[in-house]
Amino acid sequence: MKVLKFGGTSVGSPERIKHVASLITRERRNVVVLSAMSGTTNSLVEIAEYLYKGNVPGAQETLNALHAKYMAVIEQLLGTMQGKAKAASAIGRVFSLLRSYFSETLTEAGEKEILAQGELMSTALMQCYLEEQGINSVLLPALDYMRTLQSGEPDMQHINARLRRMIDLEPDADIFLTQGYICRNDHGGIDNLKRGGSDYTASIIGAVLEADEIQIWTDIDGMHNNDPRFVEGTKPVSSLHFEEAAELAYFGAKILHPSCVLPAKLHNIPVRLLNTLEPEAPGTVIFNTTPDRKLKAIAAKDNITAIKIKSGRMLLAYGFLHKVFETFENHRTSIDMIATSEVGVSVSVDDDSRLAAIVDDLKHFGTVTVDRDMVIICVVGDLEWESCHFQSQVLAALADIPVRMISYGGSNYNISVLVRREDKIRALKALSDKLF
Ligand code: ASP
Ligand code: MG
Repeated sequence: MKVLKFGGTSVGSPERIKHVASLITRERRNVVVLSAMSGTTNSLVEIAEYLYKGNVPGAQETLNALHAKYMAVIEQLLGTMQGKAKAASAIGRVFSLLRSYFSETLTEAGEKEILAQGELMSTALMQCYLEEQGINSVLLPALDYMRTLQSGEPDMQHINARLRRMIDLEPDADIFLTQGYICRNDHGGIDNLKRGGSDYTASIIGAVLEADEIQIWTDIDGMHNNDPRFVEGTKPVSSLHFEEAAELAYFGAKILHPSCVLPAKLHNIPVRLLNTLEPEAPGTVIFNTTPDRKLKAIAAKDNITAIKIKSGRMLLAYGFLHKVFETFENHRTSIDMIATSEVGVSVSVDDDSRLAAIVDDLKHFGTVTVDRDMVIICVVGDLEWESCHFQSQVLAALADIPVRMISYGGSNYNISVLVRREDKIRALKALSDKLF
């Protein structure tokens, strides 16, 4: 059994919904997780914002536009009068519920219920369409099994017990359809797994059902080995270790958030990134792979500030780094890269909102220099340090690019360098040329 998750753009129009239907019915008895149609959750957020501000006409306008959009979808998606009527009544119920909030003061619980309607609508529409196609699709309402604990973490035991029972009760089902993102909290109230949470839903379901695979379907053919916006000829990476994926995710690579794939990682379930527009392409599989000693991908993170603290007092002294780190902690600013020498330390941060105050405090400990507009370039792979060529290859590729900092050996999985913004594209291209 597999879990297949489709994001908002994949179900963003009647044609796309039909296309997804054709993909999910190729195998039997998989669990399909759907996001809301693209734009819907944003509109629902907007409606809630208007209601909080007491601007009912604003909410009304957004709601009417959304309702019209869904009526047009129904018209194009369904072929029979019966199908159209069934879908219209399901969608009609959602919009009546949303309208019922216009006459009361919005509470947090109300807001959560409003935000849940996107996934409820996308799955209802898919269910109507599959029924019309003669497919025995069973809808598993997420609000009946997906639950979080007081800590906000998923209640895996509860989810496991409920979900397995619901599936066992349907031996004839061709496929199971469910909502991403939405859940109940420990009080039983409607809640959600935060924006973008459908990936998390898929990961949780895959983990509790011990799925063969979790498939995340989007509009790109997996994780590329460099940023296609700046480098030509990038290629999808065929496989990544969960740790490599986590390194890349921080660097803004178009990939899943590490916390979303944690249940999959812990239960050893492969996560495959696939492309709805190119369903036969192999995509990228993320797994607890065996070591393969390969460089896999390059990613960059912009708007980095480097701060150097130089001090004669650092020489042979203990406690210096502690004071430096404590300063950043006091200003709730996290450090990304670190490079040390006997007379100084350089760190990089991506949040410079407290920079002036941090620099001011650091001046107690040494001479402080700041370099702005820097970029971290991160090369990810299975870089076991005893295989001595990885670091030399990376540095050789950057032979004529000024490098402000280097970080290597923090994990087995990355080498990071800090360069000037104006050198970023040149560095990305040089690395792609030399490494792949
Ligand atoms: N519909 C939700 C959102 O837009 C959840 C998701 O798409 O993953 O954030
Ligand atoms: Mg998403």
